[in-house]
Amino acid sequence: MTPRTHSQGFGMTSLRTRERLLQRLYDQGIRDEKVLTQIATVPRHKFMDEALASRAYEDTALPIGHGQTISQPYVVAKMTEAILRDGPLEKVLEIGTGCGYQTAILAGLVRQVYSIERHLPLNTMARRHIRNLRIHNTSLLHGDGWKGWPARAPFDAIIVTAAPETLPEVLLEQLEIGGRLVVPVGPSGRQDLLLITRTEEEFVTENLGAVSFVPMLHGKR
Ligand code: SAH
Repeated sequence: MTPRTHSQGFGMTSLRTRERLLQRLYDQGIRDEKVLTQIATVPRHKFMDEALASRAYEDTALPIGHGQTISQPYVVAKMTEAILRDGPLEKVLEIGTGCGYQTAILAGLVRQVYSIERHLPLNTMARRHIRNLRIHNTSLLHGDGWKGWPARAPFDAIIVTAAPETLPEVLLEQLEIGGRLVVPVGPSGRQDLLLITRTEEEFVTENLGAVSFVPMLHGKR
């Protein structure tokens, strides 16, 4: 098979498998049209190794090197839908850029995305992916998400894509009034996905169900 036919063949496969993925997300309860459209539009296969690209539209987390993963599309969709519940947002902070997939999903839905990654090679990789897709409304920082991004706070929403064992209080402080924090909290292997809304008087917590994320570690490297 020549490389040309191979890439055309892959294009068709990916169109069919993308449709299948959308159907699956819908069946699992994702209803926000804008989120579904964004999942259909962002080429997930461009965020991973070519060797794994044929599996890019499976609804599963996949390895991206450095012991990390690209998040499962369902979880990306669910977290994104949760913060967009009351309509469009201006400023969103993500903790755990990884390869930049969730960052790219958010970039098409909000005005500006800020994203922090502790691991320098992944920060560099994400910059490359975002640049290749000509996305211009993201700011990527190599740093420790436990500190949040005080210079850019407050945020309308914060998405944490690595799991802390306890809630990072600093992130609550960096939320706008009415803002939302979505974060998987708990020990390795099984966490509860919490949606925390900041009101004038208090923080209101909702449990969105069990999830499994890589741990949120301390410090940058
Ligand atoms: N958002 C990514 C998921 C990446 S996996 C996606 O869309 O696929 C989680 C990422 O969180 C890993 O890259 C890991 O290095 C990073 N991470 C873990 N602890 C962190 C911390 N304290 N600050 C910033 N990033 C962290």
